[in-house]
Amino acid sequence: MKPFNGTNYQLEALCCGARCADKNWELNCLHQHKPALVRAIYEKKQIELNALPGLYQFSDWLPIDRILEGSGAPVTYKSVGLAEYLGLENLYITFNGYWPEKGAFMQTGTFKECEAFMVCARHNPYHDKVMVVASAGNTARAFARVCSENKIPLLICIPEDNLNALWFNKPLDPCVKIIASETGSDYFDAINLSNIAAEMDQFYPEGGAKNVARRDGMGITALSAVTTIGKIPDYYFQAVGSGTGAIAAWEANLRFIEDGRFGSNKMKLMVSQNHPFIPIKEAWDAGSRDMLPFDEAEARKLVEQIDAKVLSNRKPPYSLIGGLFDALTDTNGEVLSATNQEAAIAGQLFEKLEGIDIDTAASFAVATLIESVKSGKVEKDAVIMLNITGGGIRKYKSEHEVVMVQPQMIFPVNPDAAEVKAKLAQLFKD
Ligand SMILES: [Zn+2]
Repeated sequence: MKPFNGTNYQLEALCCGARCADKNWELNCLHQHKPALVRAIYEKKQIELNALPGLYQFSDWLPIDRILEGSGAPVTYKSVGLAEYLGLENLYITFNGYWPEKGAFMQTGTFKECEAFMVCARHNPYHDKVMVVASAGNTARAFARVCSENKIPLLICIPEDNLNALWFNKPLDPCVKIIASETGSDYFDAINLSNIAAEMDQFYPEGGAKNVARRDGMGITALSAVTTIGKIPDYYFQAVGSGTGAIAAWEANLRFIEDGRFGSNKMKLMVSQNHPFIPIKEAWDAGSRDMLPFDEAEARKLVEQIDAKVLSNRKPPYSLIGGLFDALTDTNGEVLSATNQEAAIAGQLFEKLEGIDIDTAASFAVATLIESVKSGKVEKDAVIMLNITGGGIRKYKSEHEVVMVQPQMIFPVNPDAAEVKAKLAQLFKD
């Protein structure tokens, strides 16, 4: 294997166009302008897949300076079973998860591995500090795996109700520690904990959607689809919590237009949420760039009712420049929703027709695709990318022993910040 010397790219702030080298884990414009994403501008405008392992074959368009072992890439294939059932001529499935027979080897069963493997391979001046990641579940599992196997210090913040997402094929290395917000809390409360930790000297925030490595890591799903299909699809279906994956797909789309070999269209983003917790849909349908105000207690109650807890983000990167509102606007996108029951039926149907189990969130994308076909929203001959963001988990668990992990600490909703900091200092003392 050729040694990897890092990708050539610069960062560009979308507020003012200011560019800089990627030196200090930049998450925002250096000039502190209003909230905007920072985007990677790659020197190479035409992507070439290389011989690097797993996800890193797409390194031309990844903001990284090293590669890690053990990653598996998404697999894009043309659907037969589901396509015939729906009468679609060009349905492509991008499968993220565990399905060795198809060539899919994501051991945590989620596309969050795409982001974890890239964030951990980004140039990082904070190697002596602890990265903080807040997660509703899948992100935590993916980051914990990658950091544990590569000895990268990590603090996970997760709602206690979502701890069942933390299963692994072996115990975690002690460099990974987990804290939880108590039962009845949601992803937002976990983010709150992570913000408190990030104020301490020994921690630094992973950054979520603001981290270019996270977005371009997720964008690998679109890189997989477009390079396999040979053209930019007409429609892109994905279930969203934060919408970061959809933003990433849009950004990849823009790069492919610049590439010039895959068409010049923008795929229409068809993103979906889990009814009745649909804050992105409500804002988008109201034509609002701002998220609509809502009561926090009410929001927690709605989150308790949804099956796909990973879709429960109350503060998605929607309003900021280059965020989900801009992505939906630029692609003439739509925000759809499905109920728990509709998604459950869709998930079973997918498994029957395609031959693999998919995770709860992904079944919402399938449910809204089915509804969009029925209602005539998509043409039968349209090129459709269905992003299955997680799958093969039941299969993985049937073939492997898994261990569950417990949090080192559990904090109340609205915790006292000073108390949290004192306890965290203790946790990472050695
Ligand atoms: Zn700026």
